Amino acid sequence: MPFSSLSDIQSRLNNGETTAVEIAQLYLDRIAAFNSTLNAFVHLDADHVLAQAAASDAYRKEHGARALEGLPIAVKDIFCTQDGPTRCCSNILEGFEAPYDAHVITKLKEAGAVLVGKTNMDEFAMGSSNETSAFGPCRNPWDTDRIPGGSSGGSAASVAAALTPAALGTDTGGSIRQPAALTGITGLKPTYGRVSRRGIIAFASSLDQAGPMAGNVKDCAMITAAISGHDAGDATSVSDAPAIDWLAACETQDMKGLKIGKPKEYFVDGMDAAVRQSVEAALQKCEELGAEIIDISLPNTEHAIAAYYVIAPSEASANLSRYDSVRFGHRCDNPEDLLDMYTRSRDEGFGSEVKRRILTGAFTLSSGYYDAYYLKAQKVRTLIQQDFIQAFEQVDVIATPTSPIPAFKLGEKTDDPLTMYLSDIFTIAVNLAGLPGLSQPCGFASNLPVGLQWIGPAWREDTVLAAAAAYEGATDWSNQHPAEFNINGGES
Ligand code: GLN
Repeated sequence: MPFSSLSDIQSRLNNGETTAVEIAQLYLDRIAAFNSTLNAFVHLDADHVLAQAAASDAYRKEHGARALEGLPIAVKDIFCTQDGPTRCCSNILEGFEAPYDAHVITKLKEAGAVLVGKTNMDEFAMGSSNETSAFGPCRNPWDTDRIPGGSSGGSAASVAAALTPAALGTDTGGSIRQPAALTGITGLKPTYGRVSRRGIIAFASSLDQAGPMAGNVKDCAMITAAISGHDAGDATSVSDAPAIDWLAACETQDMKGLKIGKPKEYFVDGMDAAVRQSVEAALQKCEELGAEIIDISLPNTEHAIAAYYVIAPSEASANLSRYDSVRFGHRCDNPEDLLDMYTRSRDEGFGSEVKRRILTGAFTLSSGYYDAYYLKAQKVRTLIQQDFIQAFEQVDVIATPTSPIPAFKLGEKTDDPLTMYLSDIFTIAVNLAGLPGLSQPCGFASNLPVGLQWIGPAWREDTVLAAAAAYEGATDWSNQHPAEFNINGGES
């Protein structure tokens, strides 16, 4: 303690050394001690957390332990939860209480997890720094003048500072992997369709996918095993997804015979030199572990950002049209008529980045521009998918940096949306192709964590987890924690 893995906590619970209530209290104390510095949680009901923990202890006594029995997990404010508010960190959802749990929340509950609060995020998951949140920015535990990445910044900061041992995030263009990289933790975006999107507030429906953020590879696997699976309530949840032995994949200790692709488009001028060096060193380590590093090319990578920033806003503009203030959410005072109510409520409720996306998306979908932008972006998306399909004829898995730069200072990029968009340069293609991607820590650049990204073929999370587990086992990066939070602060 305080930096325990889910599996450590699980064994302590299983051998009766501690209880779910004790564990919950320990993390609640840490949240009480550190959240005012980090702003990782935007909603927390401590009594409700303790009640869940007590119920878990009772369940264990009577029926034995389920897969995540008594384990505390924080969830991003994008997941609908029946208990408490769900705001997507937006003012437009002021006062909103979801009538049902997201499918993944139900799954976590069924596995016995103790859900801890709602974590901070960019408004509607649009951003790379957590600065567009209506609740103010979240801070990076490694340097509180810096951003934790985004959009799942609160989940990342919570895990990096051990306010919870794990959290759920979502990833539309990198929002699990980039904040994981920038805070020195591990995050997995599963294959599109592996995890149900029902009850996850939609940003870009063809890209959104939920996944775990945790202190190590196995913890990510444990959570994904619990939340994945077909859901008839989400038409894009795949019913015959190949099954994986999630935990067995994490037992891998070497990389004998593994063919790792190193795409030249992901090692480019302009990226931070220390980031590049850390990732190159990681690949060298993989070679020592028996892997073969193969230079490959993903030639359409350069078009990924442009395609994403047409497709994602197009889908967002459609998804966000439901916020009309009629049945829920923020409504302006004294509307003159229906149109005034729509326009003023939306103007007051949405922040500027969300408005920028809605406007961009409405434009790219509008008649006369649809073919030039949206349709063209979809064609580019197909080319990007084909690049990966070809690459995976040659290699088992692809390794790249997760982010071209380490965590930047708060406010550094807020005036320049385009440079903010460029932070996602190495993560976005994975979403466009629907592939699994994982980020894990692999070093430091100016004392800030650097992330190594693994990309696998569709449905091969096991290959990704195996490579990451072998690398993790041979290095010590996952055991590094920010000194300021590596104390028993608030421990009871
Ligand atoms: N940073 C990207 C964006 O702003 C990705 C966000 C995400 O994955 N939710 O769209």
